[in-house]
Amino acid sequence: MGAIGKIIVSLMPIAPKFLVKRIAGRYVAGSNLESAIDLMKILSKEDACFTIDVLGEEINDIEEARFFVDEYSRVLDSIVSNKINANISLKPTALGLLIDKEVALSNIEEIMKKASLNDIFVRLDMEDHRVTQETIDVVLEMQKKGFQNIGTVLQGRLFRTKEDITKISEKLGSLADFRICKGIYLESGDISYTKYQEIVDSTNECIDLMLEMGCYTAVASHDIPIINHSLEKLSDMGMDIDNDTRDNSADSRIGKGPGYEFQFLLGVRGNLRRKLASDGHLTRVYVPYGTKWYEYGVRRIRENPDIAWHVTKTIIMPWTNRR
Ligand code: FAD
Repeated sequence: MGAIGKIIVSLMPIAPKFLVKRIAGRYVAGSNLESAIDLMKILSKEDACFTIDVLGEEINDIEEARFFVDEYSRVLDSIVSNKINANISLKPTALGLLIDKEVALSNIEEIMKKASLNDIFVRLDMEDHRVTQETIDVVLEMQKKGFQNIGTVLQGRLFRTKEDITKISEKLGSLADFRICKGIYLESGDISYTKYQEIVDSTNECIDLMLEMGCYTAVASHDIPIINHSLEKLSDMGMDIDNDTRDNSADSRIGKGPGYEFQFLLGVRGNLRRKLASDGHLTRVYVPYGTKWYEYGVRRIRENPDIAWHVTKTIIMPWTNRR
């Protein structure tokens, strides 16, 4: 799979942009907020809720961060005025984390204030290892300032993740709120697992630990062994859509499930998402939109050539992955 992915990546520079746009169209809601809102209204009928991502990441000039602060402000207004069951996902490097930490913190705080006023949760996406600790620090800092509606993403492939879960949970108690995924960035063997089974096992162990420590646990994977493991663990713990049986978890969280949810990327394994929803689980779709769809798609595929293979499979065998 990796080899095919690498071949596809090497062909990308000669792929016509219109073709890439057609492919990306499946994974991106559109180039503006209005297209994202229209799409979410349709997907709401499938019992999904959402997290909205304004496309774009690592900026080169701190001034560029202003665009994201203003656009997320529009997103928050729009969630409220359209009564969409959605929260937001931010990339800390798009808000300046790698350029000026103080400015990035103040940008994130500005978004947090408006989100809190509207009872909307804010998820900090996790980027590559350069910002793992810094991103966690932002969450702790915001919680210290009294914003309880924030959490980050942890990556099962990183060696450090179980320790991060323990440390963050000890600090935040039942306010610890995570999205757990494998991690899209192919990190080096010094800091991460690199083989498929090791990554799955580690991610599953992280899910167990989060659930046992009372954390809100958003499982973000389309991989059957991870979803099945999560379902078994939830069943062992007696947790379901109506019950959070843990005595170390928070009472209720705005717009959230009872201690857990399943998350899917827009365009990926819709049938599985619909099945989980019809079985009574809370499902959330990650909805990216914006004009930077080309850069987003190309960067994601370069970072992880397996994605190129998944996308190709979707095109040649569409029945394997319904939107
Ligand atoms: P895989 O083994 O990669 O996928 C399982 C199956 O799902 C594949 O066989 C294929 O059929 C299908 N599939 C998966 N991806 C695609 C695709 N793009 N197109 C078509 N089919 C596909 N990573 C981070 O590092 N930081 C984050 O903040 C982050 N946020 C995420 C948020 C959400 C909601 C989700 C679902 C993922 C997020 N990820 C993030 C990405 C994640 O880390 C994985 O890289 C990605 O989900 C693929 O891993 P998988 O567990 O789905 O398993």
